[in-house]
Amino acid sequence: MERVKCLIIGSGPAGYTAAIYASRANLSPVLYEGIQPGGQLTTTTEIENFPGFPDGITGTELMEKMRSQAERFGAEIRFGMVSAVDFGVTPKLVTIDGETTIEADTVIIATGASAKYLGLADEKKYAGMGVSACATCDGFFYRRKMVAVVGGGDTACEEAIYLAGLAKKVYLIVRKPFLRASKIMQERVVATENIEVLYEHETLGLFGEDGVEGARLVKRRGQADEEEVSIAIDGFFLAIGHHPNSDVFKAFVETDELGYIKTQPDSPKTNVEGVFAAGDVADPHYRQAITAAASGCRAAIEAERYLKSK
Ligand code: NDP
Repeated sequence: MERVKCLIIGSGPAGYTAAIYASRANLSPVLYEGIQPGGQLTTTTEIENFPGFPDGITGTELMEKMRSQAERFGAEIRFGMVSAVDFGVTPKLVTIDGETTIEADTVIIATGASAKYLGLADEKKYAGMGVSACATCDGFFYRRKMVAVVGGGDTACEEAIYLAGLAKKVYLIVRKPFLRASKIMQERVVATENIEVLYEHETLGLFGEDGVEGARLVKRRGQADEEEVSIAIDGFFLAIGHHPNSDVFKAFVETDELGYIKTQPDSPKTNVEGVFAAGDVADPHYRQAITAAASGCRAAIEAERYLKSK
């Protein structure tokens, strides 16, 4: 059976940064990319807030650069999905695609999170053409334009407030007659003049020629006074939550009630010795490329220290 000193699972900024640090520390890391090599960033267009790129860079290009930087120092990058793990043994066992099992002295989990979508065909049709699940990434393109945010939680309120600072107007599409968000976020939404909350509205579809030009909504679906309405918008933002991609590790690694991997305070260490978590799979709060990259660096340094201590 193949044995590796450091196995990195995931190919977003956390995974690649961990690979850069681990390879420079002579850990000969092996990194597995999942079904979306490069991770969530490859679904955004231009990245303008990653330091070092004053003119912006596309998500795909940034991830290709990180990948080749890791390869330059000897990281071995492979394609495959982790289908099972056994972290109850030493070395740890990680099975790829139900076929190959690898022994790993340390494991860095950097499998990220996936934004939830409503499941409408139009979300796919207009992906990158007006549909986004990240206001911080894409909001800037909607300066003085009309946008809608879907969701009634803290993320939706935060995104709506952020977008209100850029866009002409923000519709907040909420399926219930109230917001689930914390009181302070609700108050901020109400106090923001250019946010209009559309309570009891659900999205039926989007329309537009070369991009989103509007959304078709239904108000009070299933009630006697049900009504269809259309709103003119240029951008449609999903903020209905994220799934951390932690399911395959849950039998061994502690997660919180939402599935985010729990790490020790101010450290990427999980409850399992030699297993570290970095990036969005362990971060419900910041979810930025730069914070994910930083945590990947920390995980690689901790993996190296762990190996030295053994
Ligand atoms: P939440 O699960 O809290 O909220 C999701 C929202 O999306 C809910 O309003 C829900 O509606 C709505 N929703 C879900 N599915 C659909 C659907 N199919 N159609 C329409 N609407 C839908 O997720 P968040 O990402 O907002 O927050 C996750 C956690 O992170 C929370 O604990 C939150 O408090 C925390 N957080 C805190 C922040 C802060 O303190 N500043 C910032 C961001 C997040 P419904 O209410 O009807 O279920």
